[in-house]
Amino acid sequence: MTVLLIRGVRVVDALGEWRGDVAIREGRFVALGQGFSWPGALVLEGEGRTLLPAFVDLHAHFRDPGFPEKEDLRTGSWAAAHGGFTAVALMANTDPPCDTPEVARYVVEKARALDLVEVYPVGAITVGLRGERLVDFQALAPYVWAFSDDGKGVERADLMAQALRRAAALGKLILSHPEFAGLERPLAEELMVARDLRLAQAAGAALHLQHLSSPGSVELVRRAKAEGVRVTAEVTPHHLCLSQEAFGDYPVNPPLPGEAARQGLVAALRAGVLDAVATDHAPHTPEAKAQGAPGISGIETAFPLLYTRLVREGLLPLAELSRYLSLGPARILGLRKGLVRPGYDADCVLVEEDESFVVDEAFFLSKSTNTPVLGLRLWGRVWATLRRGEVIHLAGRVRGRDYHDHRQVVGAG
Ligand SMILES: [Zn+2]
Repeated sequence: MTVLLIRGVRVVDALGEWRGDVAIREGRFVALGQGFSWPGALVLEGEGRTLLPAFVDLHAHFRDPGFPEKEDLRTGSWAAAHGGFTAVALMANTDPPCDTPEVARYVVEKARALDLVEVYPVGAITVGLRGERLVDFQALAPYVWAFSDDGKGVERADLMAQALRRAAALGKLILSHPEFAGLERPLAEELMVARDLRLAQAAGAALHLQHLSSPGSVELVRRAKAEGVRVTAEVTPHHLCLSQEAFGDYPVNPPLPGEAARQGLVAALRAGVLDAVATDHAPHTPEAKAQGAPGISGIETAFPLLYTRLVREGLLPLAELSRYLSLGPARILGLRKGLVRPGYDADCVLVEEDESFVVDEAFFLSKSTNTPVLGLRLWGRVWATLRRGEVIHLAGRVRGRDYHDHRQVVGAG
């Protein structure tokens, strides 16, 4: 079995940092040390680059089935690999929506055939995401990681209460897109966060809150955690990095926060109240965007944006960013990923901390380039992405798109 060595690299994960060599065999990290040489090994020179665990995204829209003009599983997977992500949870608001085992199986089988990134479908909570009738939880459970009506909140408390109980009985997680229709923010969000925390507590169920955008919501989560409620919460790169003052009313849901709220979200991340950064990658065509479709194509710019705005500005140590992009979400998904330690899946990225680039449309492998980040100069380009020891992305080229065998892009030692 071939060994892959990454030599002379700075390694950073949620538990700390060091410099040396990393050995990978059979898809796992097997040894960390100094001055490794291994007969017949493939070698990736890490000099001048930083190795981090690959990123895990709890929240993305690949628009497949149903919207191939925006994205599909193939281009979404290319974009994920390009952005440094090796495992991605996909929301149910496709067409048809993921409210039957057939749709979930289609997603899993197509992703498996692509063999690029790991894909975890999320099933709908209500049939057709209409908020009227619960899906057949028992039938869907074997094919989905969790349940969510993401795109809109579940308005009816009785349905949400039942969903939490059913999911808990099946050992599954409910993800809440907290937003009551017809109310102003942040009230629309905070009210549903408060309701869902109370319902989860009453049911003894596990709850995950999606894309929190208000410091008021964060405070509710902090108190619930202190009371022992089984809750985790995510925040997006754009809510952490882009304020309404700087980027206007770029259409995204939840809307971009005001500068004070943005700073509150960064402080909450630093304080450990939130568990993960999730991209909410939401590709749209220029036509849909012109009509105000909310969302940002963000899976490829997530790391450089966070690195530039938080790490380089001294607001968040790189090890902490790694916790929220890798270890935190991997734990929520139940994966043996997110750390560079022997026994963990050899999913990692090599990033160039001191290389900057201007984000232009040519940068994207996603079909869609709807993002307010276009034109910005960012640092921290993701140079390579490895999944289970295989290079799936190197310098903008992706396996299956630009090359087929990772030995074609890695030198022999
Ligand atoms: Zn949502």
